[in-house]
Amino acid sequence: MIQFLDLKEQYNALRPEIMEAIETVFSRAQFVLGPAVEAFERKFAEYCGAEHAVGTNSGTTALHLALLGHGVGPGDEVITIPHTFVATVAAIEYAGARPVFVDIDPVGYTMDPKGLAAALTPRTKAIMPVHLYGLPADMGPILEFAGAHGLPVIEDAAQAHGAEYQGKRCGSMGASAAFSFYPGKNLGAYGEGGAIVTSDGELAKRLRVLRDWGQDGKYNHVVKGFNARLEGVQGAVLGVKMGHIEAWTEARRERAARYDELLKDCRRVIPPRPFPDRRHVYHIYAVRVEDRPGFMAFLKDRGVPTSIHYPTPVHLLPAYADLGYSRGAFPISETVAASVVSLPMYPEMPLDDVDKVAEVVREWDSR
Ligand SMILES: *Cc1c(COP(=O)(O)O)cnc(C)c1O
Repeated sequence: MIQFLDLKEQYNALRPEIMEAIETVFSRAQFVLGPAVEAFERKFAEYCGAEHAVGTNSGTTALHLALLGHGVGPGDEVITIPHTFVATVAAIEYAGARPVFVDIDPVGYTMDPKGLAAALTPRTKAIMPVHLYGLPADMGPILEFAGAHGLPVIEDAAQAHGAEYQGKRCGSMGASAAFSFYPGKNLGAYGEGGAIVTSDGELAKRLRVLRDWGQDGKYNHVVKGFNARLEGVQGAVLGVKMGHIEAWTEARRERAARYDELLKDCRRVIPPRPFPDRRHVYHIYAVRVEDRPGFMAFLKDRGVPTSIHYPTPVHLLPAYADLGYSRGAFPISETVAASVVSLPMYPEMPLDDVDKVAEVVREWDSR
C-alpha cells in the first residue's frame, strides 16, 4: 500500500532523540516558551538566513502577527493570491484588513508580479506572496515593485522551509516571513506551531511582545496582545528536527527529480516546471491533468492515493463570497485549481513507490 504521507516512519527514526528532548522540557517544567523554544528560534533564524525568529502557536498566527507588526489594520489592503490555503487570506482579515487578489502565473502557480500594478490602491499596506508547494514566488520583481511603493513584503513561507530564490532562502527576502510547523509541513511539530522570521530587530521585539499578551515585562501590558506562544515541547521537537531538515529536503528533491524524469514524456500530465534559479522544496508535488476525477479514480483503483491542493481558489469559496469576486475574476488560478493533483511525496517515501506511482501515471497517460 503506497502512502501519500507517512509521519510515523519519521518518528520511529527519531524516537530516542525526540524522547530525550521532550523529557528535558518536562523535567524542567518549561512548558510554554523557555530554553527549548529559544534554542530552536536561534537555529531556525540562522537556517533562514535571518537575524530573528519568533515562535508562535501556529502558522496562521505567525501571518496575523506579522501583519500587525507591520502596522496593518482596518481600512488597509493587503495584496495576495487566491490560489493558496485559506489561512493566508484569513490572517489578512484577522488583522482587520481587506485581501486584494492578483492572479498567479501559469507556470510556477505563484504570484504574477505583472498583476501588482492593477491591484495597487492608496490603501495598499503590504504584499503577501505565497511560496506555494515549496516553490519560491518570483521575488525579484515583487520586491522591486514593493520597494518602489514603500510597501513591506510579508512572505507566506508556510510550505517553503529551506526553499531558495537566486541563492536566497525564503524568509530572508521579505521584510518578514511566516512559517508553519503543522505536523505535515516540511518541518513539522508534534502539534501546532509557527514562527515569524525577520532581520528587523525592532519588529522582532514588537512581535515578542504581541505574542505574549502585549507584555513588555511581567504584567506590564503595553499593547493589546495575544496568547500566541510556542510550547516548550514543540520547540524541543523542532530543535531535534532542525538537525535533519536539510537531509529531508534533499530526499524530497531526489524523489521529485525521479518523478520529473519518469513523467517527462507524458502527453496529458504536466509535471511541475523546474526553475533553474529556484530551489523548490516540494512540500507538494503537484501535476496538472485534464480529466482530474478520472485520473484520481484510476490511480486510486491501483493503490495510489492522491490529493488536491487546493480545489477552490479562495475568491470562490463560500466563506469569502463577501469579498465580491465572481468566477472569471482570476482565470489562471481557476484553471490551475481545477486541474492540479498532488502525488505522494515525503522524504522517507521508498524510491520503489515513486517508480510505482509514476508507472501508474504513465499507464493512464498512454490510454
Ligand atoms: C499551513 C499553511 C498556513 C497556516 O499554517 P498553520 O500552522 O496551519 O496555521 C498558511 N499558509 C499556507 C500556504 C499554508 O500551507
